Amino acid sequence: MSASSPSASTATLNAPPKVAVMTSGGDSAGMNAAVRSVVKMAIFRGCQAYVIREGWEGLVRGNEEEQGEQSAAGVEQVKHGSNAAAAAAVAAAAEASSSTGFVPTYGEGELLKEGVSEAEELGLKGRYIVRVGWDDVRGWLDQGGTLIGTARCAAFRQQDGRLRAAHNLIKHGIDALAVCGGDGSLTGADRLRAEWPELVEKLQASQLISEAQAKRYAHLKIVGLVGSIDNDLAGTDLTIGAPTALSRICEAVDSISSTAASHSRAFVIEVMGRHCGWLALMAGLATGADYCFIPEQPPKGKWEDELCEVLQKHRQVGKRKTIVIVAEGAIDRELNDIKADDIKVVLSDRLGLDTRVTTLGHTQRGGRPVAADRILATLQGVEAVNALLEAKPSTPSYVITIRENKITRAPLMEAVAQTQLVAKRISEKDFDGALALRDPEFDECLRSFQFASKVAEEGDKLPKDKRLTMAIINVGAPAGGMNAATRTFVRYCHARGHRALAIHNGFTGLLEDNVTPLDWLRVDAWATRGGSELGTNRVLPSVDAGGVASKLQQHGIQALLVVGGFEAFLSVKELEERREQYPSFRIPIAAIPATLSNNVPLCEFSLGSDTSLNALVDACDAIKQSASASRNRVFVVETQGGKSGYLAVMGALAAGAVLVYTPEVGINLKMLGRDVDFLKKRFALDVAGKSEGRLVIRSERASEVYTTDFLTRMLKEEGGGQFDARSASLGHTLQGGTPSPLDRTRGTRLAVRCCEFLEEHAWKASAASSPSSSPYDREAQAHTAAIIAIIGSGVVFTSSRDMAKHADMKNRVGKGAWWQKCKDLVELMGGRRGLGGEDDK
Ligand code: ADP
Repeated sequence: MSASSPSASTATLNAPPKVAVMTSGGDSAGMNAAVRSVVKMAIFRGCQAYVIREGWEGLVRGNEEEQGEQSAAGVEQVKHGSNAAAAAAVAAAAEASSSTGFVPTYGEGELLKEGVSEAEELGLKGRYIVRVGWDDVRGWLDQGGTLIGTARCAAFRQQDGRLRAAHNLIKHGIDALAVCGGDGSLTGADRLRAEWPELVEKLQASQLISEAQAKRYAHLKIVGLVGSIDNDLAGTDLTIGAPTALSRICEAVDSISSTAASHSRAFVIEVMGRHCGWLALMAGLATGADYCFIPEQPPKGKWEDELCEVLQKHRQVGKRKTIVIVAEGAIDRELNDIKADDIKVVLSDRLGLDTRVTTLGHTQRGGRPVAADRILATLQGVEAVNALLEAKPSTPSYVITIRENKITRAPLMEAVAQTQLVAKRISEKDFDGALALRDPEFDECLRSFQFASKVAEEGDKLPKDKRLTMAIINVGAPAGGMNAATRTFVRYCHARGHRALAIHNGFTGLLEDNVTPLDWLRVDAWATRGGSELGTNRVLPSVDAGGVASKLQQHGIQALLVVGGFEAFLSVKELEERREQYPSFRIPIAAIPATLSNNVPLCEFSLGSDTSLNALVDACDAIKQSASASRNRVFVVETQGGKSGYLAVMGALAAGAVLVYTPEVGINLKMLGRDVDFLKKRFALDVAGKSEGRLVIRSERASEVYTTDFLTRMLKEEGGGQFDARSASLGHTLQGGTPSPLDRTRGTRLAVRCCEFLEEHAWKASAASSPSSSPYDREAQAHTAAIIAIIGSGVVFTSSRDMAKHADMKNRVGKGAWWQKCKDLVELMGGRRGLGGEDDK
């Protein structure tokens, strides 16, 4: 540790808060999006933003050649990418935005996009704590890994290392630190915070910091963002990087599946996860694998026997391929490792299968992040800065988490302790205890996998008097995940002994008697298929309610699962409304929302929306690349979505668009004037020759008058010599090809929940069947016609009646959808909020 004398001037001590962000431990996709979000939000909130390169290692090392005293305004000398024009533009921007208190630090940072990977050559050698400006994190959303570097740091595990880290933080006047990493990195963060008072005392005692510094930095503000591909942190449903890793695994397994089927082979695929089987389980669920080995739930008996029994049954019903997924930390109940090669030997020797092993290794770390990771990291980065700025000595340090769809904060210490407890429970052979510590979704997915992969014996099924005839129907436009839901429905029915009927081509198909039983094998490959295997259209039951009633009766349907978009909700509503008239509608009816528009009231996510977001992001990444290559181009991209701006807004957030137009807010002249003004200012701020292409996303129904073509021509005209404009319409490509793993697993999970709902209410109805003379109490039975919905941090059934109260029937959308506030965030991240674009609505 250097013994330089304390050197904080009053100016430094009074400077605006400095927020630093670092990435640590194993890299994961989405870390760059997290850094970008923290940097932008910190600047937006009036702080100075810093990055710490190379994780804890960088913090321990600090900057070898210390910079001189900082200026009173706390603005460092511009090192790279600055020129006189940019400096003048910065001053203009600062003036323009001074009324908002937000001073964007365009051009002030030390890393330009190109500079990060070549930081050494660009003069950052030996400098790990680096001031960054708004534009330094430009174009980071679509980059895999971490651009600011990560490392494993042995020194930080020792107190001396942490003392040096503390000294560096104080020396640089860093008030608050966001750490994005796995449980190891967050354990480190937790220790630093726990020891902080002691470290400050030591630094002051050895005169490395002044009394004033010790006072100002008496409390360390630190927050964790979980960047981990394993999804192993307790208290959060998803970690940054896990959805991308899952996507890479599923792409690989999908490819392997086709060759396995061609040769009738078995494949054993090893995926990452030492103490956590999330990747293995979700990949198993999403790809329709035959068997999964995860550390939290080893097979109950001898694994070799159980595995062979399951796979043999699959072969007996006619499967040509066998896919076994094994987590790298898989064990048996005696804690012996179960390795892919051991499994291969068993499959070859005992079942005579031609078996191959594939270890996916580092390909799983990700590369280009999927939409969910970009959005998760962006939302969590914003929350991290808010948590840091609100932190008080009395509040605990938080880790930013997500529960279903709610970004939340959990005490860092507890989350880390709970995570470590999982490994402890496993080592104590308390597997149920380990499972209980995982989030409820994990347990549900495990149950769903068991239903989806099991070939049940007669003795495993329900008693005959409990068995039902259940039917499934798709309505509306196709959406990713519909087929996964159908597959699970059929498998669930098979496992329980129910009769599974498929209604093809929606309600018109039902009226034409296009109803067939579906068996276990028929749906085997459906988990990965896009579109709707059953066939779907927009026709509602009201087309011929009497006919629909008689067909339900004719086929003896005792419970109905509807999968589709707004039409699914309307179908349930119409059937429920006619229950008094038609007794065959008095069956339990459940719906799973499935539409790329994500416009079903109250439901925060519908199947297919993730797939479509990925299709949008893929297209936008390519378009942005082209727009950037020509340096000064604005692309106006038109999306689908009807009267719902969901896809446009969340797509804009994930693709890094600077503006987004939605049907909810509409477009007006004043707005367009300000947007043009913003784009002009923004292009003027670009460092000469390093301008970036910019994306504007317009939802197809945002305005009848200000069409995509109009916007493009207007921007072209107004851009003058500064920027050019082009348009692209994504149309039906947004329905996506292969459904995303998140849509597939969600489809499976929600289908199991719906089947249980249907079962329960069908049994209750038959137990309570009233004499036909007494009138039907529609009110009392309203809850048995329901839509399953992800709301906040839970999955709930909402009756069609209640849902109708939250629907804007005219525009076919929900009232006040949660994502609408993300439009502001798009504009904040795009820089518009700082350039005078606040109040144009
Ligand atoms: P991950 O964050 O991905 O779980 P690691 O477990 O390797 O990765 O942790 C990353 C870094 O965090 C380590 O190299 C070390 O510097 C720090 N770290 C991990 N555990 C501790 C600990 N118990 N005390 C202090 N620092 C730790």
